[in-house]
Amino acid sequence: MTPLLEIEDLNIFYGAFHAVHGVTFSCDEGEILSIIGANGAGKSSTLKAIIGQVPRSTGTIRFAGSDIRDLSTPKRIAAGIALVPEGRKLFPSLSVEENLRVGGFPGRRGSFDLEGVYDLFPILREKRRQAANELSGGQQQMVSIGRALMMNPRLILFDEISLGLSPRIVREIYEQLPAIRARGVSMLIVEQDISRSLAIADRFVCMLEGRISLSGRPGEVSRDAIADSYFGAH
Ligand code: ATP
Repeated sequence: MTPLLEIEDLNIFYGAFHAVHGVTFSCDEGEILSIIGANGAGKSSTLKAIIGQVPRSTGTIRFAGSDIRDLSTPKRIAAGIALVPEGRKLFPSLSVEENLRVGGFPGRRGSFDLEGVYDLFPILREKRRQAANELSGGQQQMVSIGRALMMNPRLILFDEISLGLSPRIVREIYEQLPAIRARGVSMLIVEQDISRSLAIADRFVCMLEGRISLSGRPGEVSRDAIADSYFGAH
């Protein structure tokens, strides 16, 4: 079976700075893949390269069998990739419902509509007319995830879902990820909370200084090996 996403020899540059070096991995349809690594390892840059938001990259990014590296971000979204960005990036003065509608493609029918999002996160139904900036950080994160789902993606890229949120709200959000996957959405999760992200992932890749230092299935790799590849063995 062809993987849904195939990254081959990806290099990312910020001006003269070479941030990501020859990264290769893939994500199958229906898979949850976790990307772990310390600050600055290149995780966010890798997600941004997949959605088309880095200044310069080389290598191949194939999605559903087609090379998308030369496509604009809107075309990649139309192809079925959505990003839940770090910091959520909502329209603060628009209502919950208006923010969700921003993600909706007119006339495009998918597995998630407004009601589908409200079923996942019922608190958003209650708050649908409130401005996004009146919501708690966790509720805003739910809106950000809902907005991505409204794009009817085949693959969602999550950048730091749990950053700055309380453990309770993070648990509530993570509890809904299997339901999202059950609707046929694959996921790439970049997360500081390694145990949480490994607990839900089918496979992981660990990045260290712009390279993949280890990959595998969480249950099949020892904690020590993960720690060494995360911090760099000395
Ligand atoms: P974090 O958890 O801190 O976001 P990360 O693993 O996601 O870390 P990236 O944000 O991808 O890492 O950063 C990888 C490297 O690229 C770092 O050295 C970072 O300083 C650099 N970098 C990221 N964005 C830019 C940018 N816009 N301009 C210049 N350098 C950048």
